[in-house]
Amino acid sequence: MIKFIVLDVDGTITDQNRILNPEAISCIRKGVEKGIHFSLVSGNVIPVMYGLKTFLGINGPVFGENGGIMYYNDKIEKFFDKTRPFSFLEYISKKSSVKPYFTNQWRETSAAFSMNSEDENIVRKEAEKWRLEIVDSKFTWHIMNQKQNKGYALGILMKMFNLQWDEILVIGDSDNDDAMFKLPVKKASPFNATDSIKSMSDYVSDKSYGYEIRDVMNKFNLL
Ligand code: CA
Repeated sequence: MIKFIVLDVDGTITDQNRILNPEAISCIRKGVEKGIHFSLVSGNVIPVMYGLKTFLGINGPVFGENGGIMYYNDKIEKFFDKTRPFSFLEYISKKSSVKPYFTNQWRETSAAFSMNSEDENIVRKEAEKWRLEIVDSKFTWHIMNQKQNKGYALGILMKMFNLQWDEILVIGDSDNDDAMFKLPVKKASPFNATDSIKSMSDYVSDKSYGYEIRDVMNKFNLL
């Protein structure tokens, strides 16, 4: 039985322009009233995740920076450090089109950037040398520590709530969701998801950008 629904934010409960889908919010509210727990796991910064949790009434922990940091019960917990991601950002900015992203002022465990797509291979190789991970959320690029990903966040959640794999349903759409889609949890994706995410999903909705939430919750008998 599903006890926890873990949602990505951008492109999963929002549209292409990151506007929240009111129908997705209404489904989350219905789920909460039925006693289902929700968590958000995003590449975004923890002040934004705190805002989303508060204003959407998310009843579980929320994770920012792809699992590097968590807000729950008026406490923020950091699982990684930002020193090396920020040093790498400074280094690679001088050698490529990489430009720091303005949300870095609120980042505590990772760094975000934009770049010209032809630099992807160079930046990826350099990150490997530094033993750091880079990932594309479709909205921005992220530099993270090794093992820092949404799968790590799921591990924290399982320990906190003593959950089994099949008690968790994850919904996501892009490459930074890969790590949680590789775990033996239940997985669903919107139609706008990447081919890789779709291929790992137990269920792919024919709806996109937040409209899949009702469809997925119906499919798993959660509404
Ligand atoms: Ca996403």
